[in-house]
Amino acid sequence: MPGPSGSAGEFELIAAFTGLLPTSGEGVRLGPGDDAALLQPPRGETLVATVDAVVEGVHFDRRYTPGDIGWKALAVNLSDLAAMGARPLWALVALGVPRGAAAARLRGIARGLGACARLHGLAVVGGNVTRAAELSLTVTVLGAVARGRALRRDGARAGDLVLVSGTLGDAALGLAPDAAASLRRRQRRPTPRLALGLGLRRLATAAIDLSDGLAQDLGHLCGASGVGATLRAADLPRSAAARAACAGRADPWGPALSGGEDYELCVTVPPARVGAAMRAAERAGVSLTVIGEVTRGHGVRVLGPDGRTLPVGQGHDHLAPGRF
Ligand SMILES: [Mg+2]
Repeated sequence: MPGPSGSAGEFELIAAFTGLLPTSGEGVRLGPGDDAALLQPPRGETLVATVDAVVEGVHFDRRYTPGDIGWKALAVNLSDLAAMGARPLWALVALGVPRGAAAARLRGIARGLGACARLHGLAVVGGNVTRAAELSLTVTVLGAVARGRALRRDGARAGDLVLVSGTLGDAALGLAPDAAASLRRRQRRPTPRLALGLGLRRLATAAIDLSDGLAQDLGHLCGASGVGATLRAADLPRSAAARAACAGRADPWGPALSGGEDYELCVTVPPARVGAAMRAAERAGVSLTVIGEVTRGHGVRVLGPDGRTLPVGQGHDHLAPGRF
């Protein structure tokens, strides 16, 4: 991890950070320490690449432990790979550090990131540390998928069913000051659905991961596919804790429809393949729920229990629990 400036403090920082991360693995010919890493892509597979940044005050605040920050910075990228049906191989990390940041906080971030990397078997092969006004962590993840097998957003067809993994709204509800511990955990330590993404490669016609809320993200999928979708609010999967937290709301489905950062997968599957998709989810250890269908036209329509169209809030704002 070469640093941009020559101060001994920063080189020590880089060494301490790198020392806590897994740095070797499949295809790693040369890891951190040289000017760049040398990586051997798997034969016959297509590389999959994504990058995401988390910034203090925007994506996390002082309620997050350093370990949470490191975990989430990697997990959100892995969620994008899951949505492509790819397996992760390598990560690169760029850390922005404000002057006076405690070394213990940076080590905590490295530990959280390292734990997530080890769990999913990927190597951190390089990175960079720079001075910055805000603490930030930018993670690039590279993975692989068999040629022609990637899940994309543009394959949904009218008549497909819309399915979603896990439960919805938990992460947004986890921002409330009095949130249940299980909801807080969903907000701070998201679980990328990698095994499910792999299992759905030959079954789903399109996929997206839910970072900005179901209504918005499914809207992106529909836009890419040139179709619309109709959802039934009563079928949206919600955890017991989310139901309890929404009990008094005028729109109990608000967080499930528009709350961000659940990092579940939303997929479209032809009816004949739904049984196989359910079995794939069972093998992946996650629930999968049919929540609606793909239609001709455009836009996402949500039907309430009385069959009437519900208004859907748009625009997910990180760290703003009131806006969904
Ligand atoms: Mg995504």
